[in-house]
Amino acid sequence: LEFEDFKLKRDLLMGIFEAGFEKPSPIQEEAIPVALTGRDILARAKNGTGKTAAFIIPALQQINPKNNKIQALILVPTRELAMQTSQVCKTLGKNLGVNVMVTTGGTLLRDDIVRLQDPVHIIVGTPGRILDLAGKGVADLSECPTFIMDEADKLLSPEFTPVIEQLLSHHPKDRQVMLFSATFPITVKAFSDKNMHDPYEINL
Ligand code: AMP
Repeated sequence: LEFEDFKLKRDLLMGIFEAGFEKPSPIQEEAIPVALTGRDILARAKNGTGKTAAFIIPALQQINPKNNKIQALILVPTRELAMQTSQVCKTLGKNLGVNVMVTTGGTLLRDDIVRLQDPVHIIVGTPGRILDLAGKGVADLSECPTFIMDEADKLLSPEFTPVIEQLLSHHPKDRQVMLFSATFPITVKAFSDKNMHDPYEINL
């Protein structure tokens, strides 16, 4: 399988090749075509498999940069991972004109509020801060169809699961959930049973 086979936007395909990717990795081969149909995805995948691009490529494909709304939310457990993930969004999406914002706890809420006055298409961050922004009506997720969780085993602690479920309730009912996790503890299973619809399961 080649990246050309996914029928991606030309500018996205160019970004992928400019990043030095030649062929899809196994998780990308499996996840990208299914994700592009809008189906939920539940993937067990380790770091180093290319999982980040496996969810960012379909997210970028589905974003309309002319629509100045948040169209993808990517939840991660740490600020460091948020920075890395946003960098992948910027690299692969560099020809698309998408704006990516990182937001995590430990920074000034006021700065986020100011940044959200400009168009933001993708938000990458930790759950607490994003829920704060959504609850204040500053981050509008009501038309955000794509909800992604990376390292979900770390995100879904008893403390954070309710925060994440509250965040999900800000999204439209027919949102797509993509969950990536290195391991599948009971917390992840419980979350997917409750909040995901007929997920396509990937085990690599
Ligand atoms: P990840 O598993 O998402 O942390 O990615 C691991 C590394 O693989 C990163 O440095 C990516 O830039 C790289 N990578 C991801 N997909 C591909 C691909 N299809 N071809 C070559 N490198 C890739």
